[in-house]
Amino acid sequence: MIPQVKLLTRALGTPGPAVPDSRLLREVAGGRPAAFQPLIERHWQPVRSYLGTCVGDPRTADRLAEEALAWAYRLALRQLGSTLPWRVEVLASARSSAIRLLLQEYGACALTPGFRRWAMAGGPRPLNTTRDRLTKSYRRLPPSQQTLLWHTAVECEDTDRVAAITGTRPAHVTAALGRALTALREEYTALYRRAVEQRPTCADTARTLSAAANATVAYVDPEGHLAGCALCQECRSDLFDLRGGLRRQLPVMLLGWWDESGYRRQLAETSPPRLPQLPQLPQDLLAQEKPHWW
Ligand SMILES: [Zn+2]
Repeated sequence: MIPQVKLLTRALGTPGPAVPDSRLLREVAGGRPAAFQPLIERHWQPVRSYLGTCVGDPRTADRLAEEALAWAYRLALRQLGSTLPWRVEVLASARSSAIRLLLQEYGACALTPGFRRWAMAGGPRPLNTTRDRLTKSYRRLPPSQQTLLWHTAVECEDTDRVAAITGTRPAHVTAALGRALTALREEYTALYRRAVEQRPTCADTARTLSAAANATVAYVDPEGHLAGCALCQECRSDLFDLRGGLRRQLPVMLLGWWDESGYRRQLAETSPPRLPQLPQLPQDLLAQEKPHWW
């Protein structure tokens, strides 16, 4: 364990057994700052890696990662959660901090070329509204299932970490993922059927497609409708590849900036032995348990 982590652990207390993010955040709000320690351990590396795709200078990326976690700590104190997975909230905060560098003298120089271009263009997100049905369906799921799907389908994290973040036993993660995908498929199908209610053949096709995808069997199209209907072809693509669709669509819809290959590279380079260098986080924040300054 590197010295900074020892200091941090001593300052915050010994981590308890793995509990889900949602409960840790409630404990922080309830006056137990030590509950923030496992959150740092679970999320520092991804947050720092994401910032590595926004900011070329490692020290600046370290500082912004501290700021993002400090911001998240303050929100937890105020019990201001959102319905998004906590990881996504912190990544969004990190991205916003990186964008603000544009306002500082020489700040833009610290950004990676790709992120700078994206930020200078106003931080665009995809505007193709006909392809956001999967994201809309995802957002209709309970927060626990959204969290599970983000960490499995989008970030492809290992089972132990997903189990800890979601409060699921490792042996039950696969089954929980299956239930979440089924729920997502049902939401998607309902949204699609509403969108095509004036086209009964499309609505019927969606129901059959959904049942086939749920049973992981090939879809048989006796009427030949699919061949001539682009809408239902899109529906089939989404329903039969929910995980791939989420991975392609969710990050850019929820965060705007997403450099997947760069993120994977940063994750590999920011290995656990280089974990949190957050010497100022506990001292600064634990002194501010009562957020009168907010
Ligand atoms: Zn159709």
